[in-house]
Amino acid sequence: MTMVDDPKAQAAEVISRLKSEYPEAGIVLGFSNPWELLVAVILSAQCTDKKVNEVTTKLFKKYRTVEDYAGADLAELEVAVRPAGFYHNKARHILESAQQILADFGGEVPATMAELLTLPGVARKTANIVLGNAYPEAFASDPDAGIAVDTHVNRLSQRLGLVESDDSNKIETELMQIVPRDDWFRLTYLLIEHGRAVCTGQRPRCGDCLLQDICPSAFTLGPAAGRDKAGADAKTGGTAKSAGRGHEAPRSTFKPQTQVKSWARSPHGKRGRRGG
Ligand code: SF4
Repeated sequence: MTMVDDPKAQAAEVISRLKSEYPEAGIVLGFSNPWELLVAVILSAQCTDKKVNEVTTKLFKKYRTVEDYAGADLAELEVAVRPAGFYHNKARHILESAQQILADFGGEVPATMAELLTLPGVARKTANIVLGNAYPEAFASDPDAGIAVDTHVNRLSQRLGLVESDDSNKIETELMQIVPRDDWFRLTYLLIEHGRAVCTGQRPRCGDCLLQDICPSAFTLGPAAGRDKAGADAKTGGTAKSAGRGHEAPRSTFKPQTQVKSWARSPHGKRGRRGG
């Protein structure tokens, strides 16, 4: 039996290697409280974290409280978030979420999945990210919590043979069945890091990948399919682990301008960077 035949073993090995490779994997969006985190995650749909951080650097100075957003002029808010794309919907979701948080939750971003999912524009990915980063203790015990599945998690889960579906909601369910709960939060950021650094959408660099010997998709994708394994083996002696160490990870150099409040510190490991 190979590890791909045993998805739990495959997941355990993938997570173990990625933890070693990306010990500080975590959110890279800038925020200083749960509300700002929610705003940043809403803005991050179909947008890079770098662009979101550019937008929020200005946005969080212009609007400081939930009340500021709830009372904002929608057209003005649209202008402020326009660079993040889909600005009509994003601005409306932010404004309406602020209004609902004031009306229903006493001005505080709710700390349960069920309540988060009632907010405009908040689906499971956003709710998992907000709960896991803003309220880690609540995330750990919330019966509705799960695994945030973004485009990287979706793609890598399939390539690595962890899931069978290509639907994000089904992928979340499949991953929850094979990944220990303690790793649910971390898994998202490990796969995002590896998806950005090595296993990119169009040009996965299998020759530089520390998972190549256990990945069923290795050297089958992109323009280098079937070509770069020989080069990688010749260069590295065929040790995927050592090859992976040499990748040129495009790690974010963003330094949030805001101070991290004590509530926002993650219990999930070192917190050198923050964001979604
Ligand atoms: S071996 Fe290739 S397809 Fe598999 S995870 Fe690594 S880069 Fe992605």
